[in-house]
Parts: sequence; C-alpha cells; structure tokens
Amino acid sequence: MQAELIFTGTELLLGHILNTHAQYLGLALANIGIEVALNTTVGDNRQEMIEVLQQALARSSDLIIITGGLGPTTDDITIEVVAEALGLPLVLDQASLKTIKKRYQDRGVKMPESNAKQAYFPRGAQILANGVGTAPGAILEYNNKALIILPGPPRELTPMFEGGAMAYLAQKIAGGEAIRYKIFKLTGISESAVQDMLKDIGGQGNPGIAYLAKPGEIQVRVSARGATVDQAEKLLAGFAEKVRTRVDRYIFACDDTILEELIGKLLVKNGLTIGVAESCTGGLIAAGLTEIPGSSDYFKGGIVSYSNEMKNQLLGVGAEILDSRGAVSRETAEAMAVGVRTRTGADLGLSVTGIAGPGGATETKPRGLVYMALAAGGAIICQEHHFSGVRGAVRQGSVKAALNMVRQYLLEYETSGGQH
Ligand code: ATP
Repeated sequence: MQAELIFTGTELLLGHILNTHAQYLGLALANIGIEVALNTTVGDNRQEMIEVLQQALARSSDLIIITGGLGPTTDDITIEVVAEALGLPLVLDQASLKTIKKRYQDRGVKMPESNAKQAYFPRGAQILANGVGTAPGAILEYNNKALIILPGPPRELTPMFEGGAMAYLAQKIAGGEAIRYKIFKLTGISESAVQDMLKDIGGQGNPGIAYLAKPGEIQVRVSARGATVDQAEKLLAGFAEKVRTRVDRYIFACDDTILEELIGKLLVKNGLTIGVAESCTGGLIAAGLTEIPGSSDYFKGGIVSYSNEMKNQLLGVGAEILDSRGAVSRETAEAMAVGVRTRTGADLGLSVTGIAGPGGATETKPRGLVYMALAAGGAIICQEHHFSGVRGAVRQGSVKAALNMVRQYLLEYETSGGQH
C-alpha cells in the first residue's frame, strides 16, 4: 500500500513551525508496512489546496492523508476543500454537533456559532472522534482510494491516528483480515547484513518482514495476516520466533523500551553500578543513561576525555600506550575502561574511543573505526566497530553498540549467577 501526505498550513511554508507530522506519520505508516510515496505542503489557500488534492487523487497512491485546517475559523477550509475536490455535498453530522456542544457545556460555556462548521463533513464520511479538541477527523473512500483527514495540533492528531485511523488502516491492509506485528530493535549490525541473515525466510509476503534503519539501530518489523486475530497471532508467533533466533544477539528491545532504560533495570536487578569514559561520543552515553529517572542508583559518573592529556591525566591511560598505539586503539579503550572503573569506583567501566570524522582518519585507521571496552571484575571485553555514515551516525552508532555491549554483558552475568 502506498500513501501520499498533504500538510496544510501557511505557517508550515513560512517556517514558523516544523512539520513534525511528516516524521511522525512517515514512521507510523512505515511501521505498518505503508510506504509514503510523496509529501506535499500547501498553504491555507482554497484553490491551491484543491489542486494539490486533485493531483494526489489522480496519482496511484491508495491512501491520502491530509492534516490541518479543521478549526472553526474562516481560514480553516480543509473539509470544504475536500468536498469540492471530490464533488460531494457537505452534510451535518448530528452526533458530532452534539459532542462539540457538550464539550463547551462541560466547561460551562455556550458553543460559539462558528464551531458548528466542525460538524459538517462530505457525504459518506466516516467520522474520527477527537478526544482532545473539538474538531473531529474523517475517513472517505473515493475511487478505490482512502482519504483520511486529521487535525493540525499534534496532541490531537496523534491519538486520532493511533485510534480510529490505525484501526481502519489495519483492516484495509489486511483486506478485512486481522493483522498482527512485532518489532525487533537491533543494534551493532547494518541493515543490509540483517537482510542477508533473514532474506531466505521472509520478504514482503505473509508472514512478512520489513526493515527501518535509524542511527545506530535497525528495526525489523515482522507481520502476519490471518482470517481471525487468533490465526494472525499464531502465524506471527512461530515466524517471529524464527526471526528472533536468527538475529537474537543483536536485539536490544522488542517494544518501546529504550536501551538506556533496559540497562538501568538490569543494573538495579543485579545490584551493579557503572561509570563511563567517552572520547568520540563526547558524553552522549552519560547523557542517555542519566535521562532515565532513578539513574543515580546505578550511574556513578562519566568522564569526557577528548584529548590525549585528559585520557592520561583523568583516566590514567599510559603515555606509552597513547604514543605507540594511538588514542583510537584497542589498548587505549581498555585502559580507559579500567581507568574509569577505578576512578568512579563503579562495578563496570565502559569506554568508547573512535574516529567520528569527517577528519582524523589515517591509512590504517579509517573514519568510523571505533573501539569500545568494558571492564568488569577482573575481565576486560573490547570490541572493534566500523560504522558508516556521517559524524552523527558514527556517534549514535557508537552509543548504541557500547550500550549493547553492556546489555549483553549483564545478561551473561545474570545467567552465570552473578560471575564477572
Ligand atoms: P485548530 O483548531 O487549532 O486551528 P486545525 O486542525 O485547524 O486546528 P491548524 O490550524 O492547521 O490545525 O494547525 C494548528 C496548529 O497545529 C498549528 O499552529 C501548529 O502548531 C500545529 N500543526 C499543524 N500542522 C502541523 C504539522 N504539519 N506539524 C507540526 N505541527 C503542526
């Protein structure tokens, strides 16, 4: 299924507000297997809006989502534009009018006359309730296409999309069947490497696999359709297990849990603490770990040792190591991990040193080369990674991979009954 998104609002064109709907809807649709083929932003101009919508209707996308312009004021014209573009009359939806009136009554205010227009919809529209604001959304089916109309404010759009619109789309995608999906979040591996590991067991069929690459993270979405929810769930369970087994060592979450949160839980559960020494990530790991409420229970501290002097003075990395092996080396990473563990008095010392680029690479040490080490008990684990992409991607990839190293260590620590 392919979609086109139309964002209305002159303030978007003027740059007064950032089009966050584009990102939110793009991701949410990708997650359910709908590819966004085209995004258009149009100002609050009747003729231009009609043209943009008619052009979208003439193209091949199965789904058009139009956002904004559902307010009560005269510049809020999306519903009228849709009716005109589709050649449909506007009809009053009594239930919506009642709901809008009640919203005002509950606040002890009489509904302003202008709000009545929010209860009119093109004939045949399915109404999407708005639990936050006054403007309902709508779904229309026209020439084998679905048109979904959503309000502009994100706090109204998000619940409406995740509620009524998603339920409708899930039905649509599955052609009246049930659809179930599970997302695996992977780190420490590239998108193409994941695809290579899974390509022989599934693609776009049923059950199917879809991929989404984010900095330092690959999301693998496994989906299954069936005549009933039960059938879809059964098919998904078996298939998801097969996928999980293949890529298990790279999975850090299967739901909304973020890696930092998971590590916090594992550290607390095992009564352990952590300290971090960062070079190329410049404090991103410490920032991420301390974003989790309660992190003071297990996060001892972090040292951003960017220069060789700081690596030497603050972490005790020997000058001979820095001279002979260099700041970006296995030996430096290991010494940083040991150093931060000692300096912070934590149970685990984590370190990262690498070349984020664009400069700094040499013939033997390319951009994207990152070493990370974990000192725990008497042991030191060190990993060498080669990240691709721009500076931000290398840094984010390093954060995820380093945290994943901690996650894997803590899981092994747990299964070994608390042995470092
Ligand atoms: P209202 O009743 O508030 O007028 P509306 O459905 O008419 O709602 P708009 O007037 O188009 O929506 O937008 C209202 C507000 O919603 C904007 O000022 C902006 O803050 C936010 N908004 C609209 N479109 C977007 C978008 N694409 N991305 C992020 N925010 C948006």
